[in-house]
Order: sequence, then C-alpha cells, then structure tokens
Amino acid sequence: MSLIQLIYVSQPCGPIGSHELVQIVDSCRRNNEQTGITGMLAFSGTNFLQLLEGDEADVERTFARIEHDRRHSGIRVLGRTPIADRSFGTWSMGFAGMSAFNADLMQRCLGTQEIEPGGLTAERVLDFLAALADRTSAPRETAASN
Ligand code: FAD
Repeated sequence: MSLIQLIYVSQPCGPIGSHELVQIVDSCRRNNEQTGITGMLAFSGTNFLQLLEGDEADVERTFARIEHDRRHSGIRVLGRTPIADRSFGTWSMGFAGMSAFNADLMQRCLGTQEIEPGGLTAERVLDFLAALADRTSAPRETAASN
C-alpha cells in the first residue's frame, strides 16, 4: 500500500450553514471510515481547507468525487505527497468550523489572517490543520456547533 496526503483549498458555491456542514461531514465520516481515509476539514466561512490521507488509490477515488461536488468550486490542490505515516491517523475526518479560525493562530501558521488560496502552501496548511485539530478536539466536534 502506498500512502499519500492530499491537501486542497476551495470556495463554497452558495451559502453554507450548519445543515450543509453536517451533511458534508456526515458523508465524509461514513465514506472515509469504509475506505480507511483519514484527515481534517476546516471551513472558514469563505474557504474549505481539507487534508485527505490514505492509500493513494482510495484518496484519488474520493478526491475525484469531491472535485465534482457542486457545493464548492475553485479547487486548488496545494500538495499530493507520499507519506510514511499519517498525521491524522485516528480521524475519519476531523472538523473545525469558523469559530476555530483564530487570528493569532492563522497568523502564526499561515502567515496571514486572510485566506488567499494563491498564497497558501501545503506545509503551512498542514501546520494550521494540525493546530486546529489540537485546539478543537476535532473528532468529537460536530459541524452543527460551528
Ligand atoms: P451522500 O453522502 O449520501 O450524499 C448526501 C447528500 O449530500 C445528498 O443527498 C445531497 O443532498 C448532498 N450531495 C451529495 N453530493 C452532492 C453534490 N455533488 N452536490 C450537491 N449536493 C450533494 N466525501 C467523502 O467521501 N470524503 C470526504 O472526505 C469528503 N470531503 C468533502 C469536502 C467538501 C468540502 C465537500 C463539499 C464534499 C466532501 N465530500 C466528501 C462529499 C463528496 O463530494 C460526495 O458528495 C460524497 O462523497 C458522496 O457520497 P455519497 O454517495 O455517500 O452521498
């Protein structure tokens, strides 16, 4: 099995409320549990940041579905990297919503307080998602609470 980590940023196509977030996070968790994909999804209000990790074929198959999802667009892949170990190994999909986008944390990890997809790198987003996960106890957080 060859493990990869895929990181992308995208923008919602329409209003995304707690109902839409719950629906997205529920399908992430249900499908990813079956395929052994782990990772972290964050929604800032204007952008989705997502990291998917797992067997390369599973990640690519899942990402192909995500790419065709009309709930978001402008998908920009920041990194597709072979990995030896997972960074979010116990989570079928951790989630952090708008309340987790703390200005200090964004400045420290992303080097900016405004998400500019063109200015993001995979390394910075990985740091940011890991920090968000630490702060938000992501596995237990529900999309509806954001
Ligand atoms: P279901 O989960 O059963 O779909 C549930 C409901 O979601 C549908 O009834 C419909 O109302 C709505 N829906 C589903 N697909 C679409 C669509 N293309 N456009 C509009 N509404 C739709 N899926 C994963 O498996 N793993 C992930 O990590 C993952 N991450 C995602 C991240 C983002 C930012 C977004 C927007 C979607 C993500 N998805 C993910 C969802 C993915 O795009 C597919 O919708 C999903 O995998 C389809 O699964 P399913 O066939 O079980 O549909």
